[in-house]
Amino acid sequence: MSHEYRSLPIGPVMCDTCFQSGEKVEMLPHPRLPPEDQAWSDAQHVELQSYRCPECEGVQVFRVD
Ligand SMILES: [Zn+2]
Repeated sequence: MSHEYRSLPIGPVMCDTCFQSGEKVEMLPHPRLPPEDQAWSDAQHVELQSYRCPECEGVQVFRVD
C-alpha cells in the first residue's frame, strides 16, 4: 500500500472538507497520529503530524519536511 502525504503547509492549516462547504476552518495540531500512519512513520523514519478540524472532526496527516 502506498502512502502519500502532503507537506505540512507554512501557516495555518485549513480544513478541505469544510472549505468545500464554504467554511474556512483552521485545523489544530493533534497529538496522536492514527495507528496506521504512526506505523508508517515508524517504519519509514519520516515525521508526520496530524491535524484535526474542530468543526467536522476530520483528521488530516501531513509530512513534516
Ligand atoms: Zn472541517
